[in-house]
Amino acid sequence: MAQNSYSIGVDFGGTNLRIAAYTPAAGFLETIQIPARVQAGRDAVVADMCSAILKLRELYSAKFPLQGIGVGSPGPLELPEGRFRNPPNLPGFDGLELRAAVQQGLGSPVFVENDANLAALAECVVGKGKTLGVDSLCMLTLGTGVGSGIVLHGRIWDGMNGMAGEVGHNTIFADGELCSCGNHGCLEMLASATAVRRKAVEMIATGDFPGLAGLQKRHSDFTPREISELAIAGDAGARKIFEEVGRALGIGLAAAVNTLNLPLYVVGGGLINSWKLFAPALFEELRHRSYVYRLTDPERSVADGGSPSKTYVMPAELGPEAGLLGACILPFTVSRDKS
Ligand SMILES: [Zn+2]
Repeated sequence: MAQNSYSIGVDFGGTNLRIAAYTPAAGFLETIQIPARVQAGRDAVVADMCSAILKLRELYSAKFPLQGIGVGSPGPLELPEGRFRNPPNLPGFDGLELRAAVQQGLGSPVFVENDANLAALAECVVGKGKTLGVDSLCMLTLGTGVGSGIVLHGRIWDGMNGMAGEVGHNTIFADGELCSCGNHGCLEMLASATAVRRKAVEMIATGDFPGLAGLQKRHSDFTPREISELAIAGDAGARKIFEEVGRALGIGLAAAVNTLNLPLYVVGGGLINSWKLFAPALFEELRHRSYVYRLTDPERSVADGGSPSKTYVMPAELGPEAGLLGACILPFTVSRDKS
């Protein structure tokens, strides 16, 4: 990365808009956080984005050359235009070309990317990828849904039109629950924070899980974190929920490992605090379902028939700032011909 220039990154989340100035050497120079006025409409959101970018650009362009501007957004998005395709949480944004809209407001080029892809990029360049010394990875982000991104040789793999890396919508159980994408039994329907809560509510309704029922009685709007606390305390029902999360992730990751043969798969997002609860079932499924993983299992030595190359599956190193970091890093990794 060009160490002497700076970038501006935007993280367009459901609740907040965060805009930062960044250099590879110093990290974030300054971060602005404002509410994402989704209800006020797309023009208001784009205008807020542009005025914050312009404010940072005015301040920092006097000190450093500007490498570029990266904008991260929830999808589905077609790239490189950043064209929204019926985004479930952004009513009225369908069809908006985010790149053109922001460029018009700024009078200069920007790069738009899917937020899960940007989290993967950040994790690769300054997180777990950097720690392990690898430049390729696949990341799953377990939040409201299951986001995912693929980074190959330090660059996001977008696919033909920005829709690569939708691991969260791969089928885990053919006849599972209906997903918002139209498929049944997606990974997202089994391993997201939303799925953990839904499963708990279903189990409470059977009347067979007093621990979970007690939690609901104490706090009707209970969170996945409270379910994990119950699991850590030994509650069988709560433990079963995370075992199922691990099983679904193991099945999903086995397909990714067999397809991609990457050195690193990172799991992040809000549910990562429960890693110890779901990891045993995850690795059990992964070893069972992926011969590629078995041959490259870090716990299997060469003397024991293993490969000297290893597949690592690990929790993410970065927290909720990964998306914003990725938006800042993006301009350092894309070629000028994309702009
Ligand atoms: Zn789906």
